[in-house]
Amino acid sequence: MSSKTAHYLTHLECGLTGERHEAGRVHGLSRAGKPLLTRYDLAGIKAHVDRDALWARDGGFWKWRELLPVREDANVCALGEVDTPLIALDNLHETGTVIVKDEGRLPTGSFKARGLALAVAMAKELGLKHLAMPTNGNAGSALAAYASRAGLKTTIVCPDDTPAINIRETALRGARLLKANGLINACGAWVKAGADAGKWFDLSTLKEPYRIEGKKTMGLELAAQMGWTLPDVIFYPTGGGTGLIGMWKAFAEMRELGWVEAEKLPRMVAVQASGCAPMVRAFEAGMRFAEPWENAHTVAAGIRVPAAIGDFLILDAVRDSGGFAIAVNDDAIEAARRDVAREEGLLLCPEGAATYAAYRKAREEGRIDADDRAVLFNCATGLKYPMPDAGEALDLNA
Ligand SMILES: *Cc1c(COP(=O)(O)O)cnc(C)c1O
Repeated sequence: MSSKTAHYLTHLECGLTGERHEAGRVHGLSRAGKPLLTRYDLAGIKAHVDRDALWARDGGFWKWRELLPVREDANVCALGEVDTPLIALDNLHETGTVIVKDEGRLPTGSFKARGLALAVAMAKELGLKHLAMPTNGNAGSALAAYASRAGLKTTIVCPDDTPAINIRETALRGARLLKANGLINACGAWVKAGADAGKWFDLSTLKEPYRIEGKKTMGLELAAQMGWTLPDVIFYPTGGGTGLIGMWKAFAEMRELGWVEAEKLPRMVAVQASGCAPMVRAFEAGMRFAEPWENAHTVAAGIRVPAAIGDFLILDAVRDSGGFAIAVNDDAIEAARRDVAREEGLLLCPEGAATYAAYRKAREEGRIDADDRAVLFNCATGLKYPMPDAGEALDLNA
């Protein structure tokens, strides 16, 4: 990569009203209180940027710099990013029809690295010094990692029942880590109060614009890996929905750039747990905005998100793509995790297993066909999550 990458960011737009916001200054939500979407000079990119030259670079998701908002190369913070592999479940299904994109190979072991790397790089570029965020686990560890790398201070708040591994890895990576006696939304309110008082910048999901841009790289990378084609259907474990929104944005940008075929965009499937399924309920009711889910519970903590500020962006993408939202229960998630590990040797995280459970359910219900090419997102390494006790005793003295 050259030391000075060409830059195409033009402005930001409210995801709901389209109202224009200027680039180059600190933004939270739009004036309408909704997420901001980053816009580029796509005609300029089309004229000057070759998709295959970008794809041939090293650097994992940082290779897409011309389609990302960071201006100065010095603000890029890298920790050894890689393109994550596509692994076909060929023992369980017809060759090449069910493919897992294994995001557990990224720094900090989850796809939160993509979003937080971009959010931190932009925070650095815009002169912010202290970042704060509520987390259920993986987002906090990715923020701590990239912020420490970039020399920024972090305060991270999680519910006190967050898995110890996430709490400890986040603290070891240099964050001030607070364990709160409340749920994620209460932690978020506390972070917001501190931000309003000028103590720090609030980096909560979709409350700043650039995490979407990091997650967008999943869509760019997937298209390149599949020879600039896209699958028939994508199963995405949906919490705040950053990745689903980001990929749909990537597909729209690539279509405008002529990088992928226009008629063939994938059906987007939002996968949730039946103990916390606000998007599924809104999808089925034909609503554009989702009501918060009461008493949320599921083993898949990464998708235990009762209310998402980008709800309409998730639901619009699902509907515009001809996709759907689907919920699976914890037993189906655990069975999916066990079956893929045993039959394919691939250890999924519970949220990734939820996408396979959803694939099975959607097939049973006839919502997708056996020959549809499906990509499932395994969002984190399976090694971070509890596993059933195992092993037989062997008496060496018998
Ligand atoms: C954050 C997270 C999700 C949900 O991702 P969103 O893009 O916020 O919907 C799913 N699984 C895991 C493991 C996560 O950490």
